Amino acid sequence: MTLDNKPVHTGGCQCGAVRFRIHGALGRASVCHCRMCQKAFGGFYAPLASIGDAALEWTRGEPRRFQSSSHVQRGFCAECGTPLTYEAPDGVALAIGAFDDPASLPPLIQFGTEDKLSFVDTLHRLPARTTGEDVAENPFLADIQSYQHPDHDTVR
Ligand SMILES: [Zn+2]
Ligand SMILES: [Zn+2]
Repeated sequence: MTLDNKPVHTGGCQCGAVRFRIHGALGRASVCHCRMCQKAFGGFYAPLASIGDAALEWTRGEPRRFQSSSHVQRGFCAECGTPLTYEAPDGVALAIGAFDDPASLPPLIQFGTEDKLSFVDTLHRLPARTTGEDVAENPFLADIQSYQHPDHDTVR
């Protein structure tokens, strides 16, 4: 929140070459299961927050864009490959995982469910371990150092 009570969200790619800031209230957060979103994110689905009436400012760098269809461009960091945007004629949406505060953007609707991968609905039943619990099997994790950009704006 800013002094005038307007919400502000920030985020960016994994390497930090691209950073963004959202001024104002975001639109709806969603996941899209369509095959194009699976491919674009290399994931089971695309988590996206619509910008809605808020203002998007690129505060460092800007995404490279791929025209994935006649109406849609998808933005990503040209340095590290992080998926960042879905840009359609009816507006722009940002990848929820790229936000510094993704937990504040819970999805409210699912799209593209005709392509939903069936196991998505049962992931929560799989055995689960924390990274710390994995050190015995993967000793390199014990002293691993992250090169990921931190979850806040930085000067450089
Ligand atoms: Zn990057
Ligand atoms: Zn989609």
